[in-house]
Amino acid sequence: MQKLDILFVASECYPFSKTGGLADVVGALPKFLKKLGHNVIVVTPRYYAIDRSKLKKLPAPLGVPMGIIGELWCGIYEGVLPNSDVPVYFIDYELFFGRETLYNDADGIGFMDNDNRFVFLSRAAMQLCKAIDFRPRILHTHDWHTSAANLFLTTIYANDEYFKRCASILTIHNMQYQGEFYGGLMNVLDVGWEHFNFREVEMNDKVNLLKAGITHATMISAVSPKYSQEILTPEFGYKLEDTLKTRANDLWGILNGVDTDEWNPETDKFLPFNYDADRLDNKLKIKRALQAEVGLPKRDVPLIAIVGRLVKQKGIDVVAEAIHRLLDMDIQIVLLGNGEVWTHFYFGDIMSLYPKKFACIIGFDSALSHRIEAGADLFLMPSRFEPCGLNQMYSQLYGTLPIVHGVGGLEDSVQNYDERTSEGTGFKFYGLNAKNLVNTVGWAVYTWYNQKERFKAMQKRAMRLDYSWERSAKTYEALYFEALKRAQKD
Ligand code: ADP
Repeated sequence: MQKLDILFVASECYPFSKTGGLADVVGALPKFLKKLGHNVIVVTPRYYAIDRSKLKKLPAPLGVPMGIIGELWCGIYEGVLPNSDVPVYFIDYELFFGRETLYNDADGIGFMDNDNRFVFLSRAAMQLCKAIDFRPRILHTHDWHTSAANLFLTTIYANDEYFKRCASILTIHNMQYQGEFYGGLMNVLDVGWEHFNFREVEMNDKVNLLKAGITHATMISAVSPKYSQEILTPEFGYKLEDTLKTRANDLWGILNGVDTDEWNPETDKFLPFNYDADRLDNKLKIKRALQAEVGLPKRDVPLIAIVGRLVKQKGIDVVAEAIHRLLDMDIQIVLLGNGEVWTHFYFGDIMSLYPKKFACIIGFDSALSHRIEAGADLFLMPSRFEPCGLNQMYSQLYGTLPIVHGVGGLEDSVQNYDERTSEGTGFKFYGLNAKNLVNTVGWAVYTWYNQKERFKAMQKRAMRLDYSWERSAKTYEALYFEALKRAQKD
């Protein structure tokens, strides 16, 4: 098998930066591609929170041409992905990335210069290859933030010695966020205004960076098979469905894996006790510790978890609508997340109304998210759309049965409980509304109370599922070779 040099460019990379699943993928997939024998490097911003003292500084600054803005010079730091020798190159440019948050200000409003920030990251990645003498066979970008790099490859770098054998992949983690900016950004991209047309970069008289990536990548992937089909429809395509349809033959759906270095109840360092399918008594001890930690009484009732971005995509508005009916049941709910500002106030109020049943932690806390995944009995994820979703996979591996709306990756990764055969690893519903949500939670709660043995059997089955990255990495490898073939670069 041919060994490939692969360039990952991404706006987040766990454990250095994270707002969601994108970071988990970029922090994991390169390690598994490396295990398959490939040579991978990751390029990502050096945000304010990333400690430079633990990284190696490359001697020379990097010049990044930014069209009408001129050439900007940045520092480059080098580190590695934990538990691997995959190099991570951090683009250090204080003016763009020296901020505590990644994309939005404290009020949740996107930074005004997000266009320049991420075009800069994309261009810097290309320039860096030349500086470190890296000749990628595959450029792999993620979401709108880095999809300008797919455009650069086929324009500015089309005849460049360093990229002449390179094909590119764009992975869509979320179709809703597209990087739409004023048309003048063409002068910063500097690829020529001839590309500002409806077939390539332009959308509603604006630059649409995701569209540029979709039209210029050699091949495209979405993070689950179901989502790769859904985004071809108006409901999930967010107005890019027609563009995407023109690339339907080059579109694959690959389910994300779980990084078991991070998410394994047998070794998880954030848990007070470790456990596996044969030691579920320790899971109960974690539940009790979690109840104490979040201020809920240590009662023997089903504990339902919600962890994630508190935005409409995750169906949080439907949870809000249903919350009184949910809390009518003899259950407890623990919610960890942040997002739309109204949710912070709303769920704070719910906590004061139901202090013994509802605990709410507004914020981002990776360690606590592990304890919640482990300590809860059920995990609620009623996403309106879900490109892949990781929490439902983490939950299953932790024996915490997911309750999900059957879309995207949730449909692909959760098998519905079947009362007749006792099969299944979770509880699913179709049609997102408060009634269906309450009924399905009620079904799960009923099962917890009245079918204890079946519930436990489901937990054990869920914990034995295989969501290994090894499997997904092999599919990405196949995608890379296919892309090289289609671009005639093999
Ligand atoms: P998305 O990428 O749409 O946000 P995913 O389910 O794919 O959703 O990934 C979310 C990731 O972010 C998971 O690893 C989840 O545990 C983590 N996460 C989300 N919100 C929080 C939070 N408030 N605290 C800790 N981890 C969080």
